[in-house]
Amino acid sequence: MDTALFEFLKSRGLEKYVKRDEPMSRHTTFRVGGAADFFVEIGSSGELMEIIHYLTETDRSYFILGNGSNLLVGDKGYDGVILHLGERFNGITVEGNTITAKAGALLSTVAKTAAKNGLSGMEFAAGIPGTMGGAVVMNAGAYEGEMKQIVTKVTVMTREGEILELDNETMEFGYRTSIIKNRPFIVLSAVISLEKGDAASIQDKMDDFNKRRRNKQPLEYPSAGSTFKRPEGHYAGKLIMDAGLRGYRIGGAQVSEKHCGFIINVGNATAADISELMDEVAERVEEQFSVTLEPEIIRIGNF
Ligand SMILES: Cc1cc2nc3c(=O)[nH]c(=O)nc-3n(C[C@H](O)[C@H](O)[C@H](O)COP(=O)(O)OP(=O)(O)OC[C@H]3O[C@@H](n4cnc5c(N)ncnc54)[C@H](O)[C@@H]3O)c2cc1C
Repeated sequence: MDTALFEFLKSRGLEKYVKRDEPMSRHTTFRVGGAADFFVEIGSSGELMEIIHYLTETDRSYFILGNGSNLLVGDKGYDGVILHLGERFNGITVEGNTITAKAGALLSTVAKTAAKNGLSGMEFAAGIPGTMGGAVVMNAGAYEGEMKQIVTKVTVMTREGEILELDNETMEFGYRTSIIKNRPFIVLSAVISLEKGDAASIQDKMDDFNKRRRNKQPLEYPSAGSTFKRPEGHYAGKLIMDAGLRGYRIGGAQVSEKHCGFIINVGNATAADISELMDEVAERVEEQFSVTLEPEIIRIGNF
């Protein structure tokens, strides 16, 4: 047990927000993953800054977690501290056509707020099960929309504790990527700019997208969404299906029969099952079609 770290967190009055040996299966949409040494619910940028200073100075590893909807954590857990920007780091404000959301706000809640306020442009995001922070980092998108189209400003903290404001261009948004994939900034909040519209039609569009998701995607099983990025000129799901891998299974992990682009946990999958299946699917597609599938899902910890 890392007593020194626990004493530090206690000295900052944070003990009730700290869990030790916390199973990451509780914090990922795959519902798998071993224990993290420490799991801390962050409540403010001040707290985050102090903790990061301490962790950096004492050379401890840490990882920033949103809603865990694009993440696979190894069965042997994570040696270090998970800093969760979730419910305690939440807050949404609307001003005219802009919405400011803190990193821990759920994207679906931000989208609902947009609809209620008759603000259009975020309909695509209503069914993406991530946080604002995770969505900005990944440039999350669907149905022709992506965060790049609506984000105007992102407030981040550097690993040295400096606060920066980045505009859309500086964010270097690309397909499922942003500057934060290469520079380890922590998203604190983001401002999105939308357009006035009719609240009922906006809600209808969101409902329609969500219905299309339910029809096409295996939402009845735990997953982390699309396993692989879309390779240029192809669809990952189609390549996987054409490789004869529809329904292919390793342990409790399966290539979804409903949508081959998803790997699902059909019951008691281990992270190793999922990771092995990801690798095997990519290998088989490469062999048959000479197309490289790059994982969209992020893997951390010990497998
Ligand atoms: C059923 C299902 C459907 C999905 N559909 C879509 C879809 O249509 N489109 C799409 O793009 N994605 C989709 N996803 C994937 C996922 O929801 C998105 O990638 C989402 O943006 C991830 O957000 P998160 O908060 O869960 O991030 P996490 O999974 O917690 O983290 C993802 C990455 O972001 C980093 N991160 C998270 N928060 C911060 C922060 N505040 N500061 C810095 N780094 C941070 C993490 O360190 C990690 O590297 C789907 C997933 C599921 C399970």
